[in-house]
Amino acid sequence: MTFFPLLLSLVIIVSIGSSYAYALEYTYPTINQRLTEIPTYCAVESISDDIESSDMDEMMAKSELAVMAWKEKLQESELINKEFWDMKFKKIGKNESVTDDCTITILFRDDPEFSGSLLSKTLGAFMRNSIYVYYENQQSIYGDKWMDGIFKTIIHEMGHTFGLGHYTTDDNDYNRKVATRDQSPPSIMFAPAHINPDVRKITEIDVQLVRSIYGSYGFHAFSEQRPSEIIIENPICH
Ligand SMILES: [Zn+2]
Repeated sequence: MTFFPLLLSLVIIVSIGSSYAYALEYTYPTINQRLTEIPTYCAVESISDDIESSDMDEMMAKSELAVMAWKEKLQESELINKEFWDMKFKKIGKNESVTDDCTITILFRDDPEFSGSLLSKTLGAFMRNSIYVYYENQQSIYGDKWMDGIFKTIIHEMGHTFGLGHYTTDDNDYNRKVATRDQSPPSIMFAPAHINPDVRKITEIDVQLVRSIYGSYGFHAFSEQRPSEIIIENPICH
């Protein structure tokens, strides 16, 4: 009768041992970027004729969903002052100007304006308080799933707006395996981007790193404006 619990505890010890070894393999730094208020993310409609208005509407909707996804995760993790982790979304129409209450703008471009081939397949970027989403690269990399790609890229770039860096390992074989398997990567900030956008998710370690940056005051923690670094999400290299 005591055989089963003994076996069970052996299994538990073995799995704790292996996850401990796995946990040592990565780095997950923070960057020099902090939000200094309850943030309002403003998605700005593109004036480009290249993009169909139904696609533009969907990109705006994905932007709002991305903000809601982070808000839900951060508020879920907070027992007392859930309002300290409030996040707002605003839509800026193509004929409207960006308003003063926008903390971060989300902008849609066909491809990066940088010259140089190295960055030509960039999916998104965060610089100078703006998230850039490059929809042509999303289409060429993700095909039919490009809208999901855009959704997950915005969530990823939002991670940079909080101050999260990239979750990385030095082991390229391991990176490739994680980026191509069916399971979710260990972090939404995992670089390179997963070949399947559907499995990219905000994980517990992402939420805990945001909480460790801001502490109990949430987005009220910092009042001083700080310069933002240029952070870029690169796609998978084959
Ligand atoms: Zn990134």
